[in-house]
Amino acid sequence: MISNAISRCAIEIKKNRDRSWIIGYSGGKDSTAALKVFLAASRESGCEDDCITVIYCDTGVENPELDFFAKRTLEGMQRELPVIFPNLRIEILKAPLKEGFFARVVGRGYAPPTNRFRWCTKGLRVLPVQRFIKASPGDAAVVLGLRYGESRQRDRSLAKGGGEEAIWQVQREGAQRDLLLPVLDFNLEMVWAAAQLIDLPSSIDSIALEELYRGATEECPMVKSPLAPPCASGRFGCWTCTVVRRDKSTENMVKNGKAWLQPYLDFRDWLQLFRAQASFRWPVRRNGAVGLGPFTVEGRKIIFKEIQLLEEAVGRELLSHAEIALIKDLWRQDAEPEERLRLRGK
Ligand code: SF4
Repeated sequence: MISNAISRCAIEIKKNRDRSWIIGYSGGKDSTAALKVFLAASRESGCEDDCITVIYCDTGVENPELDFFAKRTLEGMQRELPVIFPNLRIEILKAPLKEGFFARVVGRGYAPPTNRFRWCTKGLRVLPVQRFIKASPGDAAVVLGLRYGESRQRDRSLAKGGGEEAIWQVQREGAQRDLLLPVLDFNLEMVWAAAQLIDLPSSIDSIALEELYRGATEECPMVKSPLAPPCASGRFGCWTCTVVRRDKSTENMVKNGKAWLQPYLDFRDWLQLFRAQASFRWPVRRNGAVGLGPFTVEGRKIIFKEIQLLEEAVGRELLSHAEIALIKDLWRQDAEPEERLRLRGK
């Protein structure tokens, strides 16, 4: 069955020699399976010299275990793959500093995301990828590890793209690129079989990948499309994510021996509670509407302190010098409007 999927993909690659390929890799199992099937198909079709770009979106607050794993793997791929695929390159994408999680929360005082106000997915995960895809020259197609069977709504969207056998999602709106979905009809067993049995890239440690999934169920989507499942909700995601009531993935990782992740969990839980403290929030939103607004500058400074304590606990820099400078500048910008609010409230 895996070999059929490779052959099916090889036919599509061969039929599309004029295209270049952008492969979304998140470090998770589905994108690993899609990458492996695609590369095997590329070899089977004799199209190894196609232009291929493997992209990874670095949110800056990704689950540390998955992030370390993905970046280690990307380094290995960088050494291994261009020998076989001479026109393959690897790109790590990042949101501009001002759109980062901490610039928004600690700098501008955004309340951490909730299910109703999930401001982060677009800036951290979707826009960096969209910008890259948009800027890619020629008729590039995007290769993703999206699959049937993750939710009914998603299945309906996928089915609209052409039924069970189609591995293409042809996008005709605006500047959207066509999607090639090599593992579209894979079940979980097949995903793991592809991730473990296909040899290339050998730099993906499939045993370590399986270990990562003890506890986590899915991975966060990289590309915002009607097919993409929602961010968070039991998936690997940001260690700062307050959309979920509990970060079960990380909790399970801690239970399974990754005790060094506990300080990240503690910070997330603290941030979720701190979010609700009205005394550290403006009484109006930025648009002037009455209701809990951004964190006060004092509240932002408290979060900043907590991050510094976390840095000490985990022995890792979480805020760069440039990020700190930006955050302090944003505090200065908000000092005056905050003072006006205070005077009005007296
Ligand atoms: S994992 Fe959570 S914090 Fe991260 S982008 Fe998704 S919803 Fe936002």
